Amino acid sequence: MDRKRLQRFGKRLETRQQELRRSVTQKQWSGRTIDDTLAPDVIDRAAVTYTKDSLFRQSTSERHLLEMVEESLLRVRNGSFGRCLSCGGEINAKRLEAVPWTRHCIACQEKIEQAS
Ligand SMILES: [Zn+2]
Repeated sequence: MDRKRLQRFGKRLETRQQELRRSVTQKQWSGRTIDDTLAPDVIDRAAVTYTKDSLFRQSTSERHLLEMVEESLLRVRNGSFGRCLSCGGEINAKRLEAVPWTRHCIACQEKIEQAS
């Protein structure tokens, strides 16, 4: 991949990284500050629990995404970005545009999904 493209992906990934970091921190913070004692009502308590759970789930998936984005940034820096981690082949350009933090080419991704 040429430097220009690599830099462009790097920028996109950095922006995403910052957004995700902010969002994860915010969710962790609001999850912690929701106080159960503010909801003496059973129904409200359930709502609070539900909110906490969904915040936790969201922040977990965002953290996971953040890890993938950060890993991709490392690969931008070491120049291996855009190559499949399994077969070493180039990842389809459209696929990279859509999901820059992808690790595998479509063929390998399908194999992984079938195996799991
Ligand atoms: Zn592959």
